Amino acid sequence: FHSIVAKFNINMLNRRKLIQPLTTLPLFGGLASTLTISTAMAAAKTPKRELFKEFGIRTFINAAGTLTYMTGSLMHDEVLDAINSTSKDFCLLDEVQDKVGEKIAKLVHSEAAVVTSGAFSGMTLALAGILTGKDEKKVAALPHIEYTGMKSEVICQKSHDIVYNHALTNTGCKIIQVETAEDVDKAVNERTALMHFLHIESDKGKIQHEEWVSLAKKHGIPTGIDIAADVPPVSNLWRFNDMGFDFVVISGGKAMRGPQSAGLLMGKKDLIAAARLHMPPRGGNIGRGMKINKEEIFGMYVALEKYINQDHDKEWKEWEMNIAHIEGAVKKIPGITTEIHVPPLGNHTPTLRITWDSEQIKVTDKQLREALRSGNPSIELGGGTANSVNVTVFMLKPGQEKIVAARIK
Ligand SMILES: *Cc1c(COP(=O)(O)O)cnc(C)c1O
Repeated sequence: FHSIVAKFNINMLNRRKLIQPLTTLPLFGGLASTLTISTAMAAAKTPKRELFKEFGIRTFINAAGTLTYMTGSLMHDEVLDAINSTSKDFCLLDEVQDKVGEKIAKLVHSEAAVVTSGAFSGMTLALAGILTGKDEKKVAALPHIEYTGMKSEVICQKSHDIVYNHALTNTGCKIIQVETAEDVDKAVNERTALMHFLHIESDKGKIQHEEWVSLAKKHGIPTGIDIAADVPPVSNLWRFNDMGFDFVVISGGKAMRGPQSAGLLMGKKDLIAAARLHMPPRGGNIGRGMKINKEEIFGMYVALEKYINQDHDKEWKEWEMNIAHIEGAVKKIPGITTEIHVPPLGNHTPTLRITWDSEQIKVTDKQLREALRSGNPSIELGGGTANSVNVTVFMLKPGQEKIVAARIK
């Protein structure tokens, strides 16, 4: 083994010597500071790669929002610093999750927490943990539930049963739709594993959060809630933990601006511990493909901490000013009407709707979008109708509101 290592090192050094004599020399002399300087010099000489250009990938100003297909959000510098600074050393993955999870739990008022690869995987892992507890045979059996004695049904309000429930059916469970409290009482049986709630659709359901939790408590069933896109307000981070949900999932790469591939699973201690049996570093489970690396875990933590501590009123005022700037640029144009609204659920941020009279202004929303998209710089807007578009500003970089205003005008 040693001779292989030695040979490897010599080969490496020879190669380096041939390629970059400057950087290898200090290795022999042990002059760490010289090494740092020469490495820095080498780095300075190499022009930064511009990968978007290299690949011919269009980048754009995001006046749409935190949409996965537009790559979510831009990570804060502090998040990137956390990613870079933790990428230079090895450590145990479980130790990172233990210690970071403990800190996150304190910040969000939950008993425990774990960084997952998004809110979706948080839902799968949480339900998997509920089904199996710490029984390793059951962990290995999922998603095949038959003849294992595991529960197999998740109760969910009809209006809450949207595409993301696939995260729950991934465990092998099926969804039982209900509408009223009476329906819940009838649906609960010995196979019921979970009562799941979707915050973003809460205005469309007949049963609200508190009632959902108390119905579940009455029947002794655990509860979960998906709040993936539901900060701001920041208080949502702890509101549902305080309310008594057994687990809460949120995306890390939406308004919190952590890694887009990260999210948080917060909840009861035993539930989180069981959920982690379904996660890497362990294999032989349904969550092995939901890996999250140490850099993302730290990045997510720093994003959360920054998000909680930031001045939310100040940020809101900036958003309002930017919306007002864009509105001001277009609202006097004949045929235009503007309206500012704040979606109460999901992407709760000032949004400008620009509507036009298609008799006076002969443009369709598709043509407007395409003109903005193909211009320089490229701009993406939010959804709308044939004669309206939505504009958000929470993903704009400082100053981009001026470009967006002028170009829409
Ligand atoms: C975005 C979203 C998800 C998925 O979250 P990821 O973090 O991308 O896994 C789930 N539910 C809702 C309501 C969402 O908006």
